Amino acid sequence: MIRITDILEEGQKYLSQKDLEMIEKAYIFSASVHQGQLRLSGEPYLIHPLEVTWMLVKMRLDTATLITGLLHDTVEDTLATLEQVEEAFGKDAAFLVDGLTKISKITFGDQLERQAENFRKMILAMSSDIRILLIKLVDRLHNMRTLDFHSPDRQKFIAQETLEVYAPLAARLGINWIKGELEDLSLKYLHPDGYNELMERVNKNKEERDRYTEEVKDIIRRQVESFGLKGDVRGRSKHFYSIFMKMHEQRINFDEVYDLTAFRIILDSDEERKCYEVLSIIHALWKPVPGRFKDYIAMPKANNYRSLHTTVIGPYGERVEIQIRTREMDEWADKGIAAHWRYKEGRVSSSKDEDQIDQLRELLEGQVEHKDAREFMKSLKLALYPDEVYVFTPKGDVKSFPKGATPIDFAYSIHTDVGNQCVGAKVNRSIVSLKYKLQNGDTVEVMTQAGHYPGKDWLKYAVTSRAVSKIKQWIKTEEREKSIILGREILEKELKRHFLKFSQMVKANEFSAILEEHSLATVDDLLALIGYGKMSAKHVTHQLLHDEEEEEKKGILDRVKDRFRKAPSDAGISITGIDNIMVRFAKCCSPLPGDDIVGCVTRGRGITIHESGCPMVKEMDTERIIDAQWNVDEKQTFSVDIIVTCKDKKGLLFELGNVIYSLGINTTHVNINATPGNNAICDFQLDIKDLKQLNMVIAELKKLKSVLSVERMRGPFRGTKKNKSHENIDIRH
Ligand code: MN
Repeated sequence: MIRITDILEEGQKYLSQKDLEMIEKAYIFSASVHQGQLRLSGEPYLIHPLEVTWMLVKMRLDTATLITGLLHDTVEDTLATLEQVEEAFGKDAAFLVDGLTKISKITFGDQLERQAENFRKMILAMSSDIRILLIKLVDRLHNMRTLDFHSPDRQKFIAQETLEVYAPLAARLGINWIKGELEDLSLKYLHPDGYNELMERVNKNKEERDRYTEEVKDIIRRQVESFGLKGDVRGRSKHFYSIFMKMHEQRINFDEVYDLTAFRIILDSDEERKCYEVLSIIHALWKPVPGRFKDYIAMPKANNYRSLHTTVIGPYGERVEIQIRTREMDEWADKGIAAHWRYKEGRVSSSKDEDQIDQLRELLEGQVEHKDAREFMKSLKLALYPDEVYVFTPKGDVKSFPKGATPIDFAYSIHTDVGNQCVGAKVNRSIVSLKYKLQNGDTVEVMTQAGHYPGKDWLKYAVTSRAVSKIKQWIKTEEREKSIILGREILEKELKRHFLKFSQMVKANEFSAILEEHSLATVDDLLALIGYGKMSAKHVTHQLLHDEEEEEKKGILDRVKDRFRKAPSDAGISITGIDNIMVRFAKCCSPLPGDDIVGCVTRGRGITIHESGCPMVKEMDTERIIDAQWNVDEKQTFSVDIIVTCKDKKGLLFELGNVIYSLGINTTHVNINATPGNNAICDFQLDIKDLKQLNMVIAELKKLKSVLSVERMRGPFRGTKKNKSHENIDIRH
């Protein structure tokens, strides 16, 4: 069992007295807050942070890391707060503890395999400091070593997570000893039978194999020395996990796995070329197996691992795996990134050292300048995936998005319908707007509502191409649908003026000539063009009548009679709401339900609704003007400005507001200006249902003693002071 004295003793080798005192203080803090807590094994909880810190001190990590090792579970599992940690141990340690607390809150869903890669990336993204990740790996290692006390289900779950997430993370950072042990321990719990069998078999022939290992080592050593080269030759049993994987991948049984032992030649010299010399010596001694030579010196692995690998046919005709590397390469191979995250003990690092760090820096975070290795490691941000965020579904699935993605992107990633009907989202159980930018670790839940649809403004917030294309697609379809309806209304109205009925004409296929002339496939295509204002209904009608002249010779009288019977009632388009993509309301007159209105067909933009008396209408081409009627539902409101002129007095706003409020009208904007004559001019922007309601509020306001006049404001100046205008009205959110 590790005691704090062991840690302090080990720390003495590279830390100052002051550092050691802080570590001791952290121990006392940890011991007091974890007091009374037990591990599942029945041992005091404190054993866990001590074991974790022991591994960290063996890796010669810095004081803040060691303190965090002792405190890493305090904020998560005890009453201690982050503020306490910061106050007692400083910002650095508090930052690390916070990082570990955050990671500990992440748990996997059950679809582990599919998400492992995302999950790994998320942990990397959340470990903004490499030390967080180092502590987390060691934490997991100790938990794996003591997994026996969990239920078999829990053991399997944790082992699977370790194998899928943490072992690859250790590999990514080049910390081989952690990776190897995590894999072997995972195997032990995931495939206990396979593991036990392996252990039995490996132990059974242990003596024999030890003899063999010594023999091969001896041959290699003598051969290398005979060429005047110095180094260490090691033979080590391969990890159970790699033997297990080999048996499975190559579908062979244990007896067929010859190379249970791997040999390694570690040269005293730092010269790379000596590695190649040794390689040629080995290849001269034993025949190399073709295709098995790998040169990780010329081409280091992504985690900066460097070594030569070869497989040869050994003294008994068996395959022998041999790795050749310098001492420096070996240190990196085992400790990876942690090899450089150390106190430098006053030595000047070699230029090779710097090279390696430079390479890693490029790998990890690009080109930012750092003065020395320690500074570099200290500030190292694990920006391996800086452009992605990782979030959870309510079920715990992980999804990745480009940075800046919003709940809209999330919704479309689930299903097009979910995206289209998305009205909002809950992030970590709080409601957020659709503009909210997703953060790493967020749990996102989409709120939908049937009948709700995307607006054009969504395009501003969507980041993923999937969401953008789905929104555009919807808008396009929607615009087409609306323009067909609108085109039909316009055309019907025009036809009625000539006593023609649209539906009958469709039945009689009377549009075929026009469709052909304009290369249109269907009548809907024609209606869409009319709705968009790209073709005039008058033109179409004219052409139809012209075509008919031929036919009319046949039975002119019948047809005229027929048409008279279908004489028009009051025709016109029906304005069903303010959210019609093809209909917008003129800013100049801002009509309200109850006002007489007309529609003006604009080219390619649908219809603009004006009050019939609006001066703008008089200037328009009469061909483009169509009748229109209101047909809006009760809940719909329109923004209206009224100007109230009154005597300036205390409580004025309250008095006016009270009248408006009592009629159930929402005020969206108020502006009050005092005039020289001790009067006040109040500009209210109200959400009004219709003309009747507007007249009512005007009448009620006029009843107040202090009110001199109330006017509805119209014209081009209306609404210009505010952002809100009818121009935006067809945009929903
Ligand atoms: Mn822990």
